[in-house]
Amino acid sequence: MPPFEEYVKEIQSLWDTAWLTNMGRLHKEFEEKLVSFLKVPYISLFCNGHLSLELLLQALKLEGEVITTPFTFISTTHAIVRNGLTPIFCDINKDNYTINVDQIEKLITKKTSAILPVHVYGHVCDTKAIEEIANKYNLKVIYDAAHAFGVTIDGEAVGTFGDASIFSFHATKVFNTIEGGAVTFHDENIGKELYKLKNFGIQSETVVDGVGVNAKMNEFQAAMGICNLRHIDGEVEKRKKVVDRYFENLENIDGLCITKEQKNVKSNYSYFPIVIDETKFGITRDEIYDELRKENIYARKYFYPLTNQFQCYKGKFDKEQTPIAKYISERVLTLPLYANLELDDVDLICNFIKSYKTA
Ligand SMILES: *Cc1c(COP(=O)(O)O)cnc(C)c1O
Repeated sequence: MPPFEEYVKEIQSLWDTAWLTNMGRLHKEFEEKLVSFLKVPYISLFCNGHLSLELLLQALKLEGEVITTPFTFISTTHAIVRNGLTPIFCDINKDNYTINVDQIEKLITKKTSAILPVHVYGHVCDTKAIEEIANKYNLKVIYDAAHAFGVTIDGEAVGTFGDASIFSFHATKVFNTIEGGAVTFHDENIGKELYKLKNFGIQSETVVDGVGVNAKMNEFQAAMGICNLRHIDGEVEKRKKVVDRYFENLENIDGLCITKEQKNVKSNYSYFPIVIDETKFGITRDEIYDELRKENIYARKYFYPLTNQFQCYKGKFDKEQTPIAKYISERVLTLPLYANLELDDVDLICNFIKSYKTA
């Protein structure tokens, strides 16, 4: 949360204009600030991250099959299915949990229209390899960058890869606008289409030429974004201290795997996942999760189950087709991580985890 007074000051003008939504002054100001912060050519704001992805897929007029991964938040898979498209699940890498680029090509068919990889936990996908494959087969590339706000690799901003990327500004993410989201893109025409689709497909007062929805970001969300953007660097800096402390505590423990920082990546320290190999650690991920709960420590089985194993997709997809994703999903635990988490509490959490080791 930004300082209360700062937010109040930001929304004050709304009482003069009574312009509360429909691309008002704060919406415009926030858009401009984000374009410069995220170092992207264009941006379109949304009321949440999910609808930004759903409408982006619609705006690109995709058909048939979309290659993606099941190791993500359910939103990614839902957005594909809700567009009448078929998700084709590719396995992930064991080292950073992003899409395994060596397995994409064998999944491509005549029906494939796009690849939708996820920068999961803010880890950047192998964007070069993905671009090569996409060019070879003339496929669109859309990144789910919901976890990767402000991340750069070799100085390149994460929102510039592929045809477009989506971000989430949900309250639980590194950067929030209460609820909110955005699409970043290169082609101005995508922007025009998105603008229309997030406003019911309205072209003008008498012309509606798209089957759109209402997915606009309102002025109160934009005000929250403008305030939080002033503090984001400090927040990420504090998160880094927490993550460094986790590393100090949990490095080199047999049976407990932590992802190393990616080379040349400026991280946003959005998540701290650990993967438990029960044969070496002695107890399972689920047991550790339960033990931590008893201490009022809320770790998350994030992401478990795989998206394609939820009830609504039951029987439609085979988790054995993505063995690494299955393995990680059954053993991963993301530990508490937020800017104001005290380092003493990090030590406490880690000491509990270490005390459970029996092997
Ligand atoms: C949070 C999230 C979304 C959806 O964003 P909302 O703002 O919650 O709608 C999509 N994909 C991933 C990977 C996410 O973590």
